[in-house]
Amino acid sequence: MHFRILRQMSLLFFVFFVCVGCSDTHLPAVEQKEGDGVTKTARYAPFDGERAMRYLTNICQIGPRSSCSEGMRRQQESLIQHFTPLVERTGGRVAIQSFGGKDPRDQSDCQFANLVVEWYPERLNRILLCAHYDTLPYPMRDAVDPKGVFVGANDGASGVALLMVLGEELPSLNLPFGVDFVLFDAEEYRFGKDDPFCLGSTYFAQTVRDSQNRQRGATSQTAPDLAAATPTVVRYHAAVLLDMIADADLKIFQEHNSLSWRDTRPLVQEIWNVAGRVGVREFVSRPKYWIEDDHLPLHEIAGIPACDLIDFDYPVWHTRADTPDQCSAKSLAKVGLVVREWLKTTRCCPSR
Ligand SMILES: [Zn+2]
Repeated sequence: MHFRILRQMSLLFFVFFVCVGCSDTHLPAVEQKEGDGVTKTARYAPFDGERAMRYLTNICQIGPRSSCSEGMRRQQESLIQHFTPLVERTGGRVAIQSFGGKDPRDQSDCQFANLVVEWYPERLNRILLCAHYDTLPYPMRDAVDPKGVFVGANDGASGVALLMVLGEELPSLNLPFGVDFVLFDAEEYRFGKDDPFCLGSTYFAQTVRDSQNRQRGATSQTAPDLAAATPTVVRYHAAVLLDMIADADLKIFQEHNSLSWRDTRPLVQEIWNVAGRVGVREFVSRPKYWIEDDHLPLHEIAGIPACDLIDFDYPVWHTRADTPDQCSAKSLAKVGLVVREWLKTTRCCPSR
């Protein structure tokens, strides 16, 4: 997530743009309070945050993983190895969704690839859980060395690590619908503020829209009665995007775009209600930022209700200091618990 954000200062009724590529952006410190959340969460099977943290650290040890890089290739290999035996337990597979793009520096050709883990692939009613797995090529907000090494511990590895652990649990959750994990490439293959972003999610959303249009057209022409009686089109009832969810100083506000879309507001409320129920107080039931992230193409192009879970109060964002020591197993455990309990109880997705 990056680039342009609207922050609403509700007390002042004043809205202004912040260019997040600018190094003078000041992100306010966040107060962290530990309440009785720990005792409440004890009623639920804990999500293995330590394990997720180990995955996060391992991913960062690969080094930078920007699109088209050797690091990205190595990450893809290890993720395919990780997810394949798990997803096969539900009859599913790991698919690579390749698409061509350009290096924004010289317009040379570049091959991007989303990684899609398809759980229960035969089910037409589906939920999408996603994160971006590419890292910003350079830490452009770093005051000392904006061309230095950027490993994206929170901004890149955190969502991937959480999904790696959730994938280990998923076959035993006995969910009544299909699930796709999608790891988006080229969310931020950017070298300057004018370079395009969210390319992987845009491509994915276009393929969803196109295949729905094709299937609807074919079905309505050949068998309108059958089309009315039997769902034949894959439908994503909800998308939950995980971005920067491992900050040791965790606080996740609702995101303004998600909340402003009529078809997505119930999803946002459902997730924050689950957080309240399981005692994760770091989910704050009010909005703070407008964020341009991968959920926008999912909603605007594919029409999927799409919620962004993001902790944008992260002072080392897009600097060399976005390293594992800024992240915590506890935060990953909390977000993982909320996502898993939401999956188990959501009413947004019909069976099968
Ligand atoms: Zn970023």
